[in-house]
Amino acid sequence: MACSLCGRTKAVESDLCELHLMAELSLEAAYEDWSKAYGGKLQYREFLEELLELNETGWAVKDLIRRKMGST
Ligand SMILES: [Zn+2]
Repeated sequence: MACSLCGRTKAVESDLCELHLMAELSLEAAYEDWSKAYGGKLQYREFLEELLELNETGWAVKDLIRRKMGST
């Protein structure tokens, strides 16, 4: 079975590979941090858009963001 984003072998109990699974976890952790920094007023969608603009955001995270934004 392959990762739904990149086609690599997927991790157990996920539709993502290890790399994209790690990216998903760091994305969720980052949202919690950002949300606190914004006093809980940051929309998830805004967070994704800002992250996508940052050069330091990894490609695996950007893959995930594009998919999330495409599906909402
Ligand atoms: Zn992947």
